[in-house]
Amino acid sequence: MKHGFKKRANRISKKARLKLGLQVKDYLNPNVLAEAMKAQIIDPANLNIPSESLDTLLNHREDEWSALGAHINGNPTIFINSSHPKTRIEASIMHELAHFILKHEPMGAVNYFGLPLTRFDKEQEEEAEFLGGCLQIPEECLFPLFAFEKYNLQKLAEHFHCSKQVARMRYNQEGIRYRVNAYKKKYKQSKN
Ligand SMILES: [Zn+2]
Repeated sequence: MKHGFKKRANRISKKARLKLGLQVKDYLNPNVLAEAMKAQIIDPANLNIPSESLDTLLNHREDEWSALGAHINGNPTIFINSSHPKTRIEASIMHELAHFILKHEPMGAVNYFGLPLTRFDKEQEEEAEFLGGCLQIPEECLFPLFAFEKYNLQKLAEHFHCSKQVARMRYNQEGIRYRVNAYKKKYKQSKN
């Protein structure tokens, strides 16, 4: 990732919340963000797809997918795999929204059981992955939640409606353990 991208991603995440009238530490529902971005979310189960094809589409094992993003007639569109756990779908929607926010130009698209599967390069995927995580859990709230509000990974995951893996990933990415320990050490010293 380019230098400065992580800061930019967290700025985007904070701004998105403030624009929607939320605080930085508030849960951001990806459906609400999508609506604000005029991106439509489509569950193929609600489309007129023959049940056999739909079954193949949703339960294709080799290349399991949770969300596919594409521009349909110029409109940002995300197809979701409603057979997946909600936490996974939410993370995947944020990932696809991140591609839209960053205006990533795809390398192309392939037909994936009738849905457009957009291909991005490795750097774009890394950026969307990082920004997607920031949109779920902004950096700014992590330190105070762990230092002052007795949060743990379980509580963090519950608060932001994400999996524990995503919670742990964000905790590690922002170096929270180190920052909290450094703060406690300093606090202890000042008391002595
Ligand atoms: Zn992607």
